[in-house]
Amino acid sequence: MMQPLARAQWLHAQIENHNHAYYVLDAPRVSDAEYDALMRELLALESAHPELISPESPTQRVGAAPLSAFGSVTHAVPMLSLGNAFEAEEVQAFDKRIADTLSAAGKLPAGQQPEYLCELKLDGLAISLRYERGLLVQAATRGDGQTGEDVTANIRTIKSIPLKLKGDLADYPEVVEARGEVFMNLADFDSLNAMQNRRGDKVFVNPRNAAAGSLRQLDPRITAQRRLSFFAYGWGEVGDIQREKHSDMLDWLASLGLPVNVSQHVVARGAAELLAYYAQVGARRALLPYDIDGVVYKVNDLSAQRALGFVARAPRFAIAHKFPAQEATTTLLDIEVQVGRTGAITPVARLESVFVGGVTVTNATLHNETEIQRKDVRIGDTVIVRRAGDVIPEVVGPVLEKRPPDARLFVMPTACPVCGSAIEKLEDEAIARCTGGLFCGAQRKQSLVHAAGRKALDIEGLGDKLVEQLVERGRIHSLADLFGLQVLEVAGYDRMGGKSAENLIEAIQKAKKPTLGRLIFALGIRHVGETTARDLAIHFSSLESLMAADVDTLLGAPDVGPAVAGSIRRFFSEPHNIEIVRALAAQGVEPQPEAATRSSGLSGKTFVLTGTMPVWSRDEASAQIIAAGGKVSGSVSRKTSYVVAGVEAGSKLIKAQELGVPVIDEDGLRAMLAEG
Ligand code: NAD
Repeated sequence: MMQPLARAQWLHAQIENHNHAYYVLDAPRVSDAEYDALMRELLALESAHPELISPESPTQRVGAAPLSAFGSVTHAVPMLSLGNAFEAEEVQAFDKRIADTLSAAGKLPAGQQPEYLCELKLDGLAISLRYERGLLVQAATRGDGQTGEDVTANIRTIKSIPLKLKGDLADYPEVVEARGEVFMNLADFDSLNAMQNRRGDKVFVNPRNAAAGSLRQLDPRITAQRRLSFFAYGWGEVGDIQREKHSDMLDWLASLGLPVNVSQHVVARGAAELLAYYAQVGARRALLPYDIDGVVYKVNDLSAQRALGFVARAPRFAIAHKFPAQEATTTLLDIEVQVGRTGAITPVARLESVFVGGVTVTNATLHNETEIQRKDVRIGDTVIVRRAGDVIPEVVGPVLEKRPPDARLFVMPTACPVCGSAIEKLEDEAIARCTGGLFCGAQRKQSLVHAAGRKALDIEGLGDKLVEQLVERGRIHSLADLFGLQVLEVAGYDRMGGKSAENLIEAIQKAKKPTLGRLIFALGIRHVGETTARDLAIHFSSLESLMAADVDTLLGAPDVGPAVAGSIRRFFSEPHNIEIVRALAAQGVEPQPEAATRSSGLSGKTFVLTGTMPVWSRDEASAQIIAAGGKVSGSVSRKTSYVVAGVEAGSKLIKAQELGVPVIDEDGLRAMLAEG
């Protein structure tokens, strides 16, 4: 173990290097969690050995010195950081500290709990906007808290930041300094990276870096092409404006035309309510259209804020309560490939286990070969892994400084690891595929799981594990074999008792009368989703006429383009697919005519659902729309007729607003259905 002084010095050096990489170069070398761990160790060391605290310590300072390429701005009121908490106990201790201090100062009547304003902690970068006589004259980054970078020209390109404050000059003081976060919405981040990719330019690892990198451009024309957003959450110089509460000040800033995230703010009293806000925001974090890394609690009463004051780098009256990091670094042990239902080969990263986004992760997707090359990920690399919400964990990229000399490039196998068939990649596709079709055990399993799914034959009880056993024991070769299963044979399978075997066979028997659309969907024809399958069922009325249709006839069906037509044709020209259809009929599977669609005001209209609706689930709403003759699509385009938005609607809502697509809520949809 190092001596405390030597350890503290080592930590100083490490943290300063990371600060420089993160704040100045916008290119962090470690995950935030790793950085936070170093910082916490230093704080713990300094609290055990106060003699180690020096003004130079990173615990006493904010951020990093500004980049000299920009003009510098001295902040009239310093821009500070925030103390942070990760655990509930730390929040309770914060609240107790506040209550004790305020009681002692006579600012909290006995028996009352402190009042806080709870805000989201947006993950971007802090900016100070200086308005003089109502006009934006200067914008600066936080820098080291005392001196920041002059980014006025770049800030002027952000559309939501007013160049002139609303209202009369008489309404506000000579100088108004609004402070807040510049950030990038997730949808804008995705389109920026897609563009960078097309141009062969560097892609950004996360929206924070993209926002920082975009704002700290020497050429404002580049910033202008990036879509940045802004929310104000504080202020610097504001003349003699006086309000009682922090929330009143934010309302005042909003009244001047500055964007404030008011709809997400909550006033809370005491630690329990703070923790409730944290839990509630955490539950819908993945649905927000931007990244947040936590929430912030601020004592709401401004005279109480003044009484509490500041420590070196942060106010005492506020604290950031952080969410578990969504990114972590770990070692990429190997890259293996997985075979999907349509033969798509997906490279999967095998990782040294790492705790990220609240779970332990050992595998992460790498999407496809091109993606691996683009990210330049090699086996043996230290990689950044990201898991946001319930999204499948993914490898963001390598940490190049840590690349070992023996790191290996990934080579796509030429034969399928499951069935040995050749792997092919079509010219115009990013994805490589196993050519084994249903001969391939992996594809067979996946296609059975698909066919049993809720939107296809809806066979309850037929999950992955059971399908795996059925295929591995050679009991099922195709979908049709499923209908010949007997209770007695499955009763002996793993995790299968007599009762569940009976239920399963009953569910299979019930599935013998699917609607034609469900059966077509269950066949798993590439490009034929649930809606297309239904449209085809209505248009062709029988499986036989669909099977007999040539490409031209297929193109005559609604919404069928060349890719779908080609794919259907290819599917039915495979003898083994025809055999499956025959065998299904022989087993007594009898498709039912697709329910004639009610003609209503919804026919020909396309809906996109987003967010959580008060009563209906998205599946329920989709079913209602389809039953009334409308269509449901997954993405918003100019052709979308309506976006149905629930609470916490995300990027789809933003897109709808951008494209001018009408937005309705569940009530609006119900009204439309009732009219229809
Ligand atoms: P911070 O990001 O933890 O908190 C302070 C900042 O929060 C403010 O400056 C402001 O920009 C932002 N903020 C967002 N919403 C806010 C709101 N509603 N009210 C007030 N402020 C709000 O502190 P920091 O000092 O900027 O950075 C420290 C953090 O940055 C670390 O915890 C780490 O996660 C990350 N970091 C990472 C590295 C790395 O190498 N990976 C290096 C340095 C810093």
